[in-house]
Amino acid sequence: MNKREAVIVVDYQNDFGDKNGSLYVSWGELLAPRINEIMKETKAKWGIIITSQDWHPSNHVSFASNFWLPAFSLKDGEVKWPNHCEAGSWWADFIKGFEKSLVDRRVLKGTSKDIDSYSSFGGKEEKTLLSLDEILKEYQIKLLKIVGLATEYCDKATVMDALKLWYEVEIIQSAIAAVNVHPNDGENALEEMRQAWAKILP
Ligand SMILES: [Zn+2]
Repeated sequence: MNKREAVIVVDYQNDFGDKNGSLYVSWGELLAPRINEIMKETKAKWGIIITSQDWHPSNHVSFASNFWLPAFSLKDGEVKWPNHCEAGSWWADFIKGFEKSLVDRRVLKGTSKDIDSYSSFGGKEEKTLLSLDEILKEYQIKLLKIVGLATEYCDKATVMDALKLWYEVEIIQSAIAAVNVHPNDGENALEEMRQAWAKILP
C-alpha cells in the first residue's frame, strides 16, 4: 500500500505572486496550473491538501514600517519586510487560478503581533487551533509534497521542520519559485534541502 500523502501548499498568496504584491516572486503566478495538477494527483490517491498562509496584523513584528525602517532592513539579525499578507485582505488571499475548492485544511501563521513563522509548521487552523503537525497526524500522513512560495524562505523552512518531525519530504521544483535576492539563493536552498534528505522532484 502506498504511504498516505499530503500536499502542503506554502503561502500561495497575492502578495507573493501578484505583480503588484509587496513581495512579488517572479513567475509565482504561473505555478497555479502545476500546483492544481499535483493537488489532483494526490486527491486521486486519497491524499489531502493543506495550505498555509501568512496572516498578519498590521502591527506585525516582521513589518519594517512598525520600526520606522525601510523595507528589507536588518534588525536583530532578521530581515524586516514591507507590509504583506494582512489578515483578511485581498493580498493574503490565494493567487488567481489556484483551485481552492481542492483544499481540505488551512493553517494560518504569524497571526499575532509578536510571532512570525516562515515554516508552515508554525501555523494553526483557525477554528480548531490544531497545528499542521497535529492535522497530519490525524490523517496518519507519512509523505509530504511541498509546493508554493518561496523556495529559500517559507518552502525551505517548511521542508526542514518536516524532516525534523520525521516526515518523508518531496519538494517539487516545477511548483516552487525563488526570490533570489542573491542570484543563487534558490539553488543553494535546494542543495541544503537535498543534504537534509529531502527528495527534489522535477
Ligand atoms: Zn510574513
